[in-house]
Amino acid sequence: MLPEDAPWSLKKRSGQWLLEYINDGEISVVLFGRGVLTEIAEGDPEKLGATFFETGKFPPLAAPRQEHGRNVITVDEKSCLPERPEGDALFLDRPGYFGSLRFADCFPIVLCGRNPRRWISVGHSGFVGSGMNVASAMVSTVSGTLGPDALDGASAWVGPGICGNCYGRKEDDPWTTWGMKVFPSEYVILKKKEVYFDLSGIITRQLLESGVCESSVFEVPFCTLCRKDIFYSHRGKDEYSNFLLARLLVSGHNSRYWWENDNSDNNENAKFE
Ligand SMILES: [Zn+2]
Repeated sequence: MLPEDAPWSLKKRSGQWLLEYINDGEISVVLFGRGVLTEIAEGDPEKLGATFFETGKFPPLAAPRQEHGRNVITVDEKSCLPERPEGDALFLDRPGYFGSLRFADCFPIVLCGRNPRRWISVGHSGFVGSGMNVASAMVSTVSGTLGPDALDGASAWVGPGICGNCYGRKEDDPWTTWGMKVFPSEYVILKKKEVYFDLSGIITRQLLESGVCESSVFEVPFCTLCRKDIFYSHRGKDEYSNFLLARLLVSGHNSRYWWENDNSDNNENAKFE
């Protein structure tokens, strides 16, 4: 069972798993997990766009080349397809524009608020990106663009990604040594020549240290490897990716897309473990 007050929803509709972070008629952020649509698109953002939107109605969609860095791209006409700027996070405050990122074990970070106007920032934070603190770069971009009060009333989600019990790295790998230096020790566990990293805990702490209110940060408790039935996992040898799509709706004249309509008859809810 899902906790009844969970601040996200997970459902399967028409053969496609969907994790909805927020869908309130003004802000929509959803992660497409395992399913027919993600597989048809084969991880290619252009194909994904064509799969998701009717031909001829392809909206402006940003789909950056993800580099495991901390560059935050503002979504506007210059950063949308066919352009593919390099970056691992997006800042979006223009209704009508879409932002997208792809994940397979790395963690989605979703941040959104309404002060002084609606905005969304989404990020891709794996081992390297978390070490570079992409979360703090996202928060800095939000407050740098909209002012220090932009975080008032903001909400944040971390995950789903690979859990601390599954994400072991070889002790003698130089990147592991780097991780042990940059991450706080309470999120790092050494067992049997492998070092395990709790990336969800690390990212959550980074958000709090950047000024996001603790009661507004939610860790989505699904591991992409433990729950390969719902999500794609790089360590689970999947060649496809989970696909995150974010948009601000245009007030007054928006048609909702099929994944934004709540048609509970078609849903098959996930078991929560
Ligand atoms: Zn796991």
